[in-house]
Formats: sequence, C-alpha cells, structure tokens
Amino acid sequence: MTIGFIGLGNMGGGMAANLAKAGHVVRAFDPDAAALARAGTQGCEPVGSAQEAVAGADAVVTMLPNGAIVAQVLAESVIGHAPADALLLDCSTIDVATARSIAGQAAEAGHAMVDAPVSGGIAAANAGTLTFMVGGSNQAFARAQPILAAMGKAVIHAGAAGAGQAAKICNNMILGATMVATCEAFALADRLGLDLQTFYDIASKASGQSWSMTSYCPVPGVGPQSPADNGYQGGFATALMLKDLNLALAAAADAGATVPMGARAQELYTAFAEAGHGGVDFSAIIRTFEGA
Ligand code: NAD
Repeated sequence: MTIGFIGLGNMGGGMAANLAKAGHVVRAFDPDAAALARAGTQGCEPVGSAQEAVAGADAVVTMLPNGAIVAQVLAESVIGHAPADALLLDCSTIDVATARSIAGQAAEAGHAMVDAPVSGGIAAANAGTLTFMVGGSNQAFARAQPILAAMGKAVIHAGAAGAGQAAKICNNMILGATMVATCEAFALADRLGLDLQTFYDIASKASGQSWSMTSYCPVPGVGPQSPADNGYQGGFATALMLKDLNLALAAAADAGATVPMGARAQELYTAFAEAGHGGVDFSAIIRTFEGA
C-alpha cells in the first residue's frame, strides 16, 4: 500500500519506519526538518507537505500532538487532497468529542476513518509493539487492522467512532489514580517502619496489587526494573499523564460522570507539573509524599 504519514515525532517516527519495514510505501511529512530527515534514513519517502504525503495514498496515518492540530491537518491537508476512498487512521491521543466530529467530517467526504490511540511509549513505537484501541465501523476496523498490526502487538476494536479515545483515557485515568495510591501507600509504609521490599512482597500478592505496583513500582530498588531505578528518567512523562487526565476530566464533564479519584489525580499531577516536574516519569510523584 501507499501510506501517507503525518507527524514523525517521538512516536510517529518509529511507527512510520515500521510501516516501511513491512513493505509499504510510506510518504512521510513533518514540519520539523530533523524528524523528516530521520524518516528518510528509516525507509520512508520524506515529502515537503502534508498534502503531498496524502496525494494518491491508500491510507493516511496521523500521529500529532492534540485534537486541534489533528482537526486542522485533516481539514486543510487531508480531506479533499487524499483520494476519497483512502482510509484515515488517527493514532494521536485526542479528546473524544473532536475524534467523533472529525470522523463525521471524514465520512461526509467519503472516507472511512478510525481513531486508534496507542498504549505503550517510545520504545514500543520503535519496536512495533504498541497496543491500539480502535474506534470506528466494523468495515473501517477490518481495513485498519493489518496496517495497525504492522506497528503493534495488539489491535483491539473498542466500538464506534471515538471509542478508541474513550478506552484510552478511561484506562489512563485508572493508571493515574492507582499510581498516586501506590505512591502514598509506600510512603506511609515507610513512615510506619515497614521494610519496603517486604511490603512489596506482601502487597504485590495481596489485594493492593496493580500494574502501577508490579510492573512499574515507583520505589527505587523494589519490584521490577522501572524508571524509579533510573532516577525517574525515560518512561511516561508527567506532562503526558496530565494531558490524558485532562482529557478524561473533560470527557467526564461532557458525559455528566462523577470521577472523584480521577479529579484528585489530575489536581496532584497538575501541581507536580507546575512545580517543574513535567519532564520526569509520572511515578516520580512519590517524591511529593516522601517529602511531605
Ligand atoms: P511529538 O511532539 O514528539 O510529535 C508530534 C509531531 O507532530 C512533531 O514532530 C511535530 O513537528 C509534528 N507536528 C506538529 N504540528 C504538525 C502539523 N500541523 N503538521 C504535521 N506535523 C505536525 O509527540 P509524540 O510523543 O510523538 O506523541 C504523539 C501523540 O501520541 C500525542 O497525541 C501523544 O499524546 C500520543 N502518545 C504519546 C506517547 C509517548 O510516550 N510519547 C504515548 C502514547 C501516546
């Protein structure tokens, strides 16, 4: 297939390279010259504009920072420029309302479209081991599946348009809340005089267990290797966790849902980011409890 790929940043760069590796012709665009040049060394064909990337494409993948940019790129450079039968796949994490509205605009122009946000960070994007949560019709999902499979280890149909984004932010709202809960519990265990490895051995096999504890323990030297063992560098940046919590809270407000734990996690991550920690891994929030 000929695939137009727009947005070759931390995530998109590796994803586009994996599509090229799978044998697709990838016409890649990013306004950032370094990102564009890197794609050229990884099997993609760099082009000078988004419109050029989508011209004649069988499918168009976008991996962009937010919903406003995705909507703008689709309106200005994709719809009316890509062939009407081109499948559109937006893999960015954006708000549910925008995902639904752009799917409607794409449908009016004749395009099948899926929202397909990812779970997994930069390493998974490079390795082709992302998990995709997909919203769209059965037919659109069937067309998207083999394209996404070339970039990931799991491709799951979540439901109609917007359902991929809904699944992503609900999942990450659990992640934010369980990470905060895990951090405060380890900080309390420490103050109560427990050995933290012993507490881990107990809680990881008891009802306090969660992914935040057993796959991503926020305490250095305890549990599996995690960003905590690397000075909280790498991993999933606090700013990205906050982005997803903000999207979850906005969706909850639109839907009239009550999300007290998500709201509290959002407040704590907002304060942590505003204190200058937006670039460190989100599990570093444990430091705010240790220092309390
Ligand atoms: P990034 O900022 O590294 O990359 C975004 C790219 O989009 C940049 O290269 C930028 O130049 C390009 N861009 C901006 N405006 C553009 C435009 N108008 N036209 C074309 N290109 C444009 O971001 P990222 O980390 O790659 O994240 C991309 C998306 O994936 C985001 O929605 C993010 O929330 C989501 N995500 C990121 C991670 C992660 O760990 N980084 C994990 C899961 C999901």
